[in-house]
Parts: sequence; C-alpha cells; structure tokens
Amino acid sequence: MSAPALPSRFDPKAIEARWQAEWAAHGYFRAPDRPSRPYFAVPIPPPNVTGILTMGHMLGYSVMDILVRQHRMQGNATLWVPGLDHAGLATQVEVRRRLAKEGIRLEDLPRAQILEQIELWRQEHEPRILEQTRAGGFSVDWTRYRYTMDPPAARATREAFVQLYRAGLIYRGERMVNWDPRLRTAVSDLEVLHTEEDGRLYFVRYPWADGSPGGLEVATVRPETIFGDVAVAVHPDDARHSSDVGREVLLPIVNRRVPVITDTAIDPAFGAGALKVTPRHDLVDYEIYRRHPDLPLPASILDDSGRLEGDLVPPELRGLDCDRGREATVKRLEEARLLLRTETYRHSVARSERSDAMIEPRLSTQWFVKMRPLADPAVAAVREGVVRIHPDRWMLSFFRWMETIQDWCISRQVVWGHPIPVSRCAACQEEIVYVDRPASCPKCGCRELIPDPDVLDTWFTSWLWPFLSLGWPEETADLAHYYPTHVLVTGRDIMFFWVARMMMAGLYFTGRAPFSDVYLTGMLRDDRGRRMSKHLGNSPDPLSVIAERGADATRFALVFPTPTDEDGPFGRGPLEGARNFLTKVWNLTRFAQSHTPSGTAPPTTPPALYAHSPLEDRWILSRYAATVAALNDTLARFEISQAATTLYQFLWHDLADRYVELIKDRLAGKGDAVSERTAQATLLFVIERSLRLLHPFVPHMTEELWHALPHEGESVTVAPWPPATEVPRDALAEARMEIVLDSIRLLRNLRAEEHVAVETIPSAWIRPQNEEVATLLKAECGAIEKLARVHPLKLLGPGEATPEGTSTRVSAAGEYFILRPTASIEDTETLRRERDKLAALLRKTRERLADLGFRDRAPASVVREAEEKARELDERLARIDANLKSTGPSEGSGR
Ligand SMILES: [Zn+2]
Repeated sequence: MSAPALPSRFDPKAIEARWQAEWAAHGYFRAPDRPSRPYFAVPIPPPNVTGILTMGHMLGYSVMDILVRQHRMQGNATLWVPGLDHAGLATQVEVRRRLAKEGIRLEDLPRAQILEQIELWRQEHEPRILEQTRAGGFSVDWTRYRYTMDPPAARATREAFVQLYRAGLIYRGERMVNWDPRLRTAVSDLEVLHTEEDGRLYFVRYPWADGSPGGLEVATVRPETIFGDVAVAVHPDDARHSSDVGREVLLPIVNRRVPVITDTAIDPAFGAGALKVTPRHDLVDYEIYRRHPDLPLPASILDDSGRLEGDLVPPELRGLDCDRGREATVKRLEEARLLLRTETYRHSVARSERSDAMIEPRLSTQWFVKMRPLADPAVAAVREGVVRIHPDRWMLSFFRWMETIQDWCISRQVVWGHPIPVSRCAACQEEIVYVDRPASCPKCGCRELIPDPDVLDTWFTSWLWPFLSLGWPEETADLAHYYPTHVLVTGRDIMFFWVARMMMAGLYFTGRAPFSDVYLTGMLRDDRGRRMSKHLGNSPDPLSVIAERGADATRFALVFPTPTDEDGPFGRGPLEGARNFLTKVWNLTRFAQSHTPSGTAPPTTPPALYAHSPLEDRWILSRYAATVAALNDTLARFEISQAATTLYQFLWHDLADRYVELIKDRLAGKGDAVSERTAQATLLFVIERSLRLLHPFVPHMTEELWHALPHEGESVTVAPWPPATEVPRDALAEARMEIVLDSIRLLRNLRAEEHVAVETIPSAWIRPQNEEVATLLKAECGAIEKLARVHPLKLLGPGEATPEGTSTRVSAAGEYFILRPTASIEDTETLRRERDKLAALLRKTRERLADLGFRDRAPASVVREAEEKARELDERLARIDANLKSTGPSEGSGR
C-alpha cells in the first residue's frame, strides 16, 4: 500500500509518457461495444491533414477531455471518436505550394501523380497529428479512428449525395459562384475574405450608336470586361439620364451596340450614374440581366484562370491575365480618346482565403444543395432547445446566418476529394447517380459512362461526421448505442462551415440532432494580439510546448485563467501560472504523504465529525463539499474556466494555505493522539478526493499523486467521481471560520501597514463584537496567533481601555489592534532630518504665497498649485510629528 516517496521536484517528463502507456495498456479509453450503462459520446472535430495541430486544437481537445474524463468517472460508457479530415482544397493548395518550390506546377501533372503527391503529404502529416493528440494525454478511443477518405467514409458520402439527389435537394445548375482563378475552382462564400483595398476607377465614354456627338460616361473598376457588356444601366429616377434611356451606345474598342436600360440596382451617386452591365462576371450585373429578359447572355470572356478569351475579345488581347488585360484595354481606350479620367478608389475586394487570389464572380455550372429545407429543422432544433449553443450569445449569429442561407455549391474543380457520384451516358445522355457505379447505362445499356469531372467540397463529408464516424449508413452497433452524441466542442470560426451543417445533416439523414449541446471556444491570440491560426503560422507547435512545459501545465494554461469561450492570450504567463499551481498541488500531496504513517487505510468514507471536532476539520470538509457542488454545476453548464477556478481556489487557498497551516501542530503531535489521527484522516480524505476532481484537467500528475497516497482501485482514470452528497455542508463551521480567517486577514493587513519586520511578532488585541464571537476567537486564539504572526493575542472586554501605541482596524466581528513597532534611534534621526527639510520648504512656499506681487503676476493655476503644495507639506509634517511623538520613549516591544 505504501508508495515510494514522491520526488521533491515535480517533473512532468518523468511521469507523462509512463501514464499514457499505462492507460493505453489497460484500454481505459476504449468504449464498450455493448454498453450496459448510460453513455456519453463526443465526436472530435477531425483536424485537417493540411498541417500540424495548433494550440487552438489543444484548447478544444482539453475542454473535451475534461468533459469525457468526468463522465467516465461518473460511470458512463464514454466514447470519444478521433479522426482526420482530408480537407480537399486546402490540402491540394498546400501540396501545390510545396511543388511550386521545386518549380513544378501542380496543374501540369497528370491526375494520378497529383494524387500520389497528396498521399505522400498525408503519410508525412498524419503521424505527426496523431502524435500531438497522444502527447496531450487525451482520452480518445483510438480503436475507432476514422479518416474522411477511408472507403466507408467515401461510401457514406455517396449515400448522402444520392439520398439528397433523389429527394430533389441536390441539383446541377448555372449560377454565379466565387471563382478562384489561381486554384481554378469554385469556392464557397465562407472561403472568401473581403478587405478594403485601393483600386482605380476609370471613367469611359461610350459613344452614341447613332453617331451623334458625345456619349455616356460610364464609371468602372474593371475596364477589361467591357467586351462582355450587354447594356449600360441608369437608375429610373435619374433625371440626368431620362432622355438617354432607350438609346444605344457603342462598346468602346469593339463598337458592338448595346442599349441603355434602367434598373433600381444602380446607385445614381456612383460616378456619373451610368454603369456597364456584364452579366457573366459580376453578381449584381447578373441579377440585372435576369430582370431584363430581352438582354442576351454572351459567352464568357474570361477563362478559368481569369485570362481574356473568346470571340468577343479583340484577338490581340486574348490570353492576357486580368492585370495585363486591363493595362492593354486602358491603352486602347486612351488611343481612342475614350478614357475621360481616372480616380483612386477604395472599395471592398473579395479574395480567396486559400490562395489570396482576387475572386472572379463567374457564371458557372455547378452542383448545389438546396439549403432552405435543411436549414429550417436545424433552426427549429435550436429554438426548441433540442440543441443548445454555449455560450448562448452565439445563438443570434446562428439564427441570422440560417435565415439568409444560400444554396451550397458542393462541386470543386480540384483533384483531391470524393468524386461526384454522377456519370453521363455517352449514348443517351442519361444522368446516372449512384452509390456503386454501374457498369452500363441502366436506360440504354451503353457501357461508355462519362464520370463528372469534379469532386465534392470536403464539408460535404465532414457534415456527416457525428454519424459517419459511428458507421452510418450501415446500421452498426455503435450507431445504435452511441448516437446521438452529446456535445460538440469547436472553435466558433467554423460554426457555419461545420456545426450548422452537421445539425442539418443529422436531422435529415438520421432524423435526430447529432448532439444536444454545442460549445464554442474562443480564439487564442499570440503575443502581438493576433489570432493564432494555421494560416498565419503563429501558433507554437503543441509538441514543443508539451515537451517544455508538460501536457498537464499546457492543458491547464489553456483553460485557466482566460475563459475558454472568450478570445484570450496564450503564452508564458498562463503557462507559468499553471506550473505554479501544479507544483503547489504536488507539494501539498508530498506533505500529506510524509505525514501519513505507512499502513494508513485508504479514505473510503469521510472522517466522522462531532460538534466538538476541531473547527478547521469541519470547515475544510464543508468547503470540499461546496467545491464538489460548484464543480458539478459549472461543468454541467460548460463553464470550464469557472470550474478550473473553483478547484484552483480550493486547493491553493483553502487546503494548502489555510487548512494545512492550521493543522501543522496537530500533525506534529503537539496535541493528543486522536487530534493527530483526525487531522491525518481529514487531510488524506480531502486530498484524495480533490485529486479525483482535478484529474480531468491534469490527468498525468493527478494519477501520479493519487498512487502516492493510500487509495483504492487501479487508476484514478476509472476511479468513481466523488459523490456530491458524501459530505454535508456545515454552514455554521463555514461562518465561524470566516470570522477566524477575517481576523487573520485584518491583523496581517495591520502588520503590513505598520511595516512590521518579518521576524517581529507584535502583540495584538481584539475587542469582539459580542459574546459569541469572543467565545469563538478565544477557542481559535492559537490558530490566529500562528497564521497572523502576532503574540500574545489578548481579547478585550467591552469596557476595557485601548492599549497605547496601537494601530486599529474595525470589522463586523470587532475591533483589532496591533502594537506599532518602536522606531530605532537611527529611524528617529532620519525622521527629524526629513521634518526639518519639509519645514524649510513649507516656510518658503508660504512666503511666496504671502507676496502680493506673486499673486498678482502669476497665472491662477500656478497660485493654486502653490497653495496645494503648502497644504500637502503641512499634512506630511503633521504625520511625521505624530510619529516622532509616539515613538519617543520606548513603551516596550511585543517581544
Ligand atoms: Zn444510355
């Protein structure tokens, strides 16, 4: 039973890997296949294979592990499924970047070679990501690890596509999409960043088609798209242009005729109030085109890499990219004397989050998911409380986004991803949608089937994660036993990308919300206040932080003191705070270990208490009971940092700083044997239980410490969570101890105010407020003396005179006095010299103020300043005089 003595220094390196191996060997984290108990399931947001994990991942994982470990100890069958996301476009961008460094353009490689390169990338990154997860000590069930490109995930993805397609919720259509000309793919609205940038506004004259002089002045930021214009539009109420409407103008350079039309989308205040309409390359223009059925829809004038193309473009400009095309167009406009002027112009520019390329709005044929029918049940689930969002301030953003949700473009023109499960028959053009690709056309039997060239957006797989990871669409035992899951913990930045879509998918495909709670963590910030992100590369590698600080300190620093649901800094400060706290708990346990005789029984029940039991025992047990209750409460509400604070306060302040100090004499055998044994039992009981409560936060250290004390069971990982009702609250003991602790605080403050030297133990007095307080303080006199470092401490009766030479404080419990220290001869000399200096200064100031000439000449503020100075000097002199008087002849020190 007796464990070897704990080393004096807490060294995470010596223990963390050992316990991780031990937990794995025992299979504590493997969820039972057929749970006989209530379950608690958490889907881990699968990290992207794009890179390594960031501290932001560690934050989410820490929160999840706290909840999972608590539920495991509470006796639930817990399942925490780890996984990895193939992150289609994002991964391809990374691989593209890496190839570019070797001078290879990814677009030039055949498809098979691109896939090979991506597979290489995965083989390099996956082990690192898994190593990071293991090093954190997170209690995931590795036997159920899933990858979103695994064959079962591929099948589930196709199944989802087919189901939605058959229900009419997936369609193929020509719509405006955000086109990334660098990556040559459509990207979703959520992958577009809008920034204010300086651009140039060109004022171009469109000549009248009938040959009359002048023309219309058109303002545009994109002169190079003139070739795709179908009209010039003005606002219907714009009086300047009322006579222009219905006429025709000539497109500059190419001299194609287009009409002047009206549309309410035109802002008359912009430029001269006339705008070119280019329906294929601008979202607003496309809408205008749709409102005017007479207008033609010309062919695209930009190819998929954003270069000018097609018959509408003058041959010498074809093949030019956006910038060169603009230059050349502007030059031609100048030569034709059609460029009137230019202005710098600040406007919102849309850029691709993945490649930073300027987004081209592009009319393109893509696959879409109809979102409205899917979004409504998800909104209802949140409104009805079936799914709760924490912190609830994010609910509003959720509703706002869901109300304006657009159809989701799910096709991507990249290589890496799940192919769209659609083929077209070469003979009869039949569109064939399948989970398993047929060998021939079901309609005409033709064997030549042309597969759709695109792949699916990664999120089209990820949104299935909570049930896909349990085996859906197969009716697996896991799906039957562990679905729906309980809580989804993730950064709020992917609330729409992922959380909202998961809710829609869960409700649609399984008929149930995939989880009952969503907990959104804040974003970590670096030393410069920037969000830590993979994108910026400013997050330290969790592995190096863990190597330096240990997993436990890293985990604790992530949840305390900055609230986990708010944005906050992560760095040296929190890490050192965590380290100090862990050292405190380590030393506390070492102290208990060294005061526990070998053969002490494990504390299976709380020590028996009686009315006459020592106040500190009754108090600490009651504080412990309060801590369990507060912890259960805060964790149930997902107030993770508040839970950590509760434990921190209790362990550091109540247990280590107060209780241990109060019982030191008893443990040293200065009282009777019963008192010593009760102190041991109480300390042991509270520490053992506290280690269990702390375990979900810092699993490795608590495991090590738990084994160093008498305990029952093989691991704290599977030890029962302490029941809240094990120890009753003792309100009287807490109220009484509050008075004792207040007395200690007051006397300590007095000591500090009077600059009592550390080694000095001054006399002190208390005049209690009433008889009850007097009885209490009398009984606890020794404790107060010891902790406040005063002696002797005497109680004064109501009529008794206040001792001379004391400083006073008053509280609800009574009056407190401490003997002021006697100043030494040197101190008195210093005071006298100071007094003379101040007196001289005061004299001078007063003379100056008495001089009427000064008062007349000097500005009022200077006079006021001098008056203020005189007053201040006067007060300081009075204080020194009082000091000199009281420290005059010695009245005897407190020794
Ligand atoms: Zn056919």
